[in-house]
Amino acid sequence: MLPYGRQTVDEADRRAVLEVLESDWLTTGPKVSEFEQAFADFTGSREAVAVCNGTAALHAAMFAIGIEPGDEVIVPAMTFASSANSIVFQGGTPVFVDVDPETLLIDPEKVEEKITPRTKAVMAVDYAGQPCDYQALRLVAERSGLILIADASHSLGAACHGKPVGSLADLNAFSLHPVKPMTTGEGGVITTDDSQFAERMRLFRNHGITTDHRQREAQGSWFYEMVELGYNYRITDFQCALGLSQLKKLPEWIRRRQEIAGAYNRAFADIPTIEPLKVKSDIEHGCHIYVIQLDLEHLSMGRAEIFRALRAEGIGVNVHYIPVHLHPFYRERFGTGPGLCPVAEAAYERILTLPLFPSMTENDVSDVITAVGKVMNYEARV
Ligand SMILES: *Cc1c(COP(=O)(O)O)cnc(C)c1O
Repeated sequence: MLPYGRQTVDEADRRAVLEVLESDWLTTGPKVSEFEQAFADFTGSREAVAVCNGTAALHAAMFAIGIEPGDEVIVPAMTFASSANSIVFQGGTPVFVDVDPETLLIDPEKVEEKITPRTKAVMAVDYAGQPCDYQALRLVAERSGLILIADASHSLGAACHGKPVGSLADLNAFSLHPVKPMTTGEGGVITTDDSQFAERMRLFRNHGITTDHRQREAQGSWFYEMVELGYNYRITDFQCALGLSQLKKLPEWIRRRQEIAGAYNRAFADIPTIEPLKVKSDIEHGCHIYVIQLDLEHLSMGRAEIFRALRAEGIGVNVHYIPVHLHPFYRERFGTGPGLCPVAEAAYERILTLPLFPSMTENDVSDVITAVGKVMNYEARV
């Protein structure tokens, strides 16, 4: 089965990790700050804070901006659960907003309608690797004094109006899970130009303690103070060594992802029952996932059947995502449910994610195209 996404790990990556395993620092050593600096440089931001996963990155961002009970954060329904969960971790209320039907990205006009006196922030999600309209979102946020957060888990390496993702929102959170654009096994990073936010997040990832063990050792001191309720959200040194090695290859991987997406676009242009997501002009697409929308009105099979038919062909299709407000937790805790975000709900019924990752061979790509053609042509004849 060809998976929808997978990591690329080479000999240089393995050597980088081994080197750290043989050194003195397994965690919070020199590689963490080296990786943070490289990540900040890559994303054109002043500060990068590395943590143990993307969910922790989002949580740290919610802590940094001071989300607390009573605060609302606007978040799109079409995302992974942890975008919204990070708001709830801090006692905040996620306010789900609908998406654009063609891009499935947060709709800035609909964001405006959701703003109340309790709104503190807007969290945009660069769904599929396409950056949101940060110019429009910035205007909306500034008019109401809101902080703009990017869940950029899909879009590392992408850009908008020539500016790299990571420099587009006040805080930008990344995931380094193996299916994401690059990996540290598990991992996450938050970028920001605000040194106070960065300092709060460094505190937060280390139990809320003001110094780390390396700093105390350097000072020859045992004393430390816990000044906030933080977590152990640290990332290890060997993960950051892997991250440094992976980051060097990222631009080439993005280029390969774009090439595969281009091949899919050309192949599916003639199949009227398939609509790829719309790509806006003036963006550099990260091509994290390749999502098609099925024209179910002109198909006799449902999405579930097409899903099964493609799986039977060895194509590991997937569905991203079940709208978050439809999950039982959110229905029960926040009273959300069907009808709240109709565009996301309708899209959910007809989306499929096809395999897309840099190490796919030309054969893999043509296998996907052939299988999709087979399943859909069969449909066309019905
Ligand atoms: C992967 C992902 C996350 C969570 O990242 P983890 O590293 O798995 O914790 C959050 N939001 C989105 C949109 C994601 O795709």
